[in-house]
Amino acid sequence: MMCAGADGSPKEVPVFVSIVPQRYFVEKIGGDLVDVSVMVEPGASPHDYEPKPRQMAALAKTKIYYAVGIEFEKVWLKKFCDANPEMLVVHTERGVEKISLKTHHHDQDKGEDAHGKTAHHPEKAAGKHGEKDPHSLHHGIKDPHIWLSPVTVMVQARNILRGLLAVDPDHRSTYEANYKEFIIELVDLDADLREVFAGEEGRTAFMVFHPAWGYFADAYGLEQVPVEIEGKDPKPAELQYLIDHAKKQGIRVVFVTPQFSTKSAETVAKAIGGQIAFVNPLALSWKANLIEVAEKFRAALR
Ligand code: ZN
Repeated sequence: MMCAGADGSPKEVPVFVSIVPQRYFVEKIGGDLVDVSVMVEPGASPHDYEPKPRQMAALAKTKIYYAVGIEFEKVWLKKFCDANPEMLVVHTERGVEKISLKTHHHDQDKGEDAHGKTAHHPEKAAGKHGEKDPHSLHHGIKDPHIWLSPVTVMVQARNILRGLLAVDPDHRSTYEANYKEFIIELVDLDADLREVFAGEEGRTAFMVFHPAWGYFADAYGLEQVPVEIEGKDPKPAELQYLIDHAKKQGIRVVFVTPQFSTKSAETVAKAIGGQIAFVNPLALSWKANLIEVAEKFRAALR
């Protein structure tokens, strides 16, 4: 029998997060004082995850649920609250300025020079996005992948800290010190990533199957060219359009993520005489992974 605390309550604060990278963030701030469980298990897609019964049971003992604003939460957060009404739900995406999920190739790109103008997003490189982008006007779907840029993670870190202070105020000074250290790590990482892409101003485009890297691209002046269209494989005509575009731009690598099918990606890669390469948007070693991904993107930029 293990009786950790004097009053029989566990030593660590049990918390849940939606996806693996959040575990990295929460452990940075909570250190040994937290026990983190991840809802979307490694290898599963975060976009349509179905919690396991044992996870629902584990939620009953959880103090905080850290949401991140991905699709499955829309369906499940309410049920999580029903399973444990005492649990604090923290929306770590609160305060993050969301960008639109861009589909690169679309019907209205046909004809006029619209494609050449919008596809390379000169306004995006300048750090602006939104109103003037015809893609966002037509789709308006917000990009959920906010955990893949140090800049947007800084906002999430603040929300994570706030949650821990609310449920465990006794350890305020530890959490605040850890938080400050984590912010410094993020600032340093941001500078390192800037360094990776320094001098690549003329080469900005990289092609991915699943468009998870929008915030990353925005932060470092890159252009993400997605194969997937709003979560679906492209239709044959769209696929052909993509292939032509990739050829014109000299793209030779199609990046795929381990969580998604790669059939269309392989088709494109073969057609452009290129290859596929893996990048993981859900790695636990979050910081090392972002540096690795940056190097891979840089090598493939066109
Ligand atoms: Zn995704």
